[in-house]
Amino acid sequence: MRVCVETQGGGANPNEDWVAGTSTLAVVLDGLSTAGLSTGCRHGVPWYVAHLGGHLVAALADLDRPLADGLADSLERVAAAHPECDLGDPGTPSATVAILRQRHGVLDHLVLADSPIVLEGAEGHTVISDLRVDEVLSELRAEVERHETHTSAHREALQRLVLAQRQVRNTPEGYWVAAASPEAAQHALTGTTQTRDVHSAAVLSDGVSRLVTEYGMATWSDVFATLLAGGPRELIEAVRKVEATDPSGLRWPRYKSGDDATVAYCRW
Ligand SMILES: [Zn+2]
Repeated sequence: MRVCVETQGGGANPNEDWVAGTSTLAVVLDGLSTAGLSTGCRHGVPWYVAHLGGHLVAALADLDRPLADGLADSLERVAAAHPECDLGDPGTPSATVAILRQRHGVLDHLVLADSPIVLEGAEGHTVISDLRVDEVLSELRAEVERHETHTSAHREALQRLVLAQRQVRNTPEGYWVAAASPEAAQHALTGTTQTRDVHSAAVLSDGVSRLVTEYGMATWSDVFATLLAGGPRELIEAVRKVEATDPSGLRWPRYKSGDDATVAYCRW
């Protein structure tokens, strides 16, 4: 497997996405927004995703280890790396997880929250995504989307949403993300595909996939054509060009005018 990666922050703040590609593995993590609220952790989200990602690559060096098992182990190791922080804080650093692994003629996948994996095969595109986060708190999300980005009303609505999300995050009533407890790994969506059925694949943060799913400005065929012609950087530039036409989020209401954007493009 050949993996080409790119990640770019969406604004002035540090990039909270993380990506890695090896000859057998593509990993994308998207740290969840803290909206400026307290987290109980002095390290921050970029530290969290970098450490979780590093542990994942090490844990999954054993090709026969189930992905969810490697994730659970990595979550424990990251938690053990900052015992001085309050890991019971509902705002403890957390992230989406998307992993694609090649192993003995098959592709294993794992997704936890809304970073998708898209497989391109002879029959078209298969999108593997965990959209449970979209099924809760719809009224608070709609409230955020009623305001233009960069306004105080938008920021306050986003903080109300994030506070409410923290109450249902990693509970059976809500949705599951990587945070401080290994339990979330059991709730990831996992599966296996025959490698011969897949021509190429893209592991994305939602800052990129929204070009198709939210903005409707490209199809998955367009996305893979861009990746083939110009690679991940060109795809992220295409997202930024679209966002630049709507800086205040009037046409496409969203949490930030440009989100952190990450691609791992896999070919065989
Ligand atoms: Zn910490």
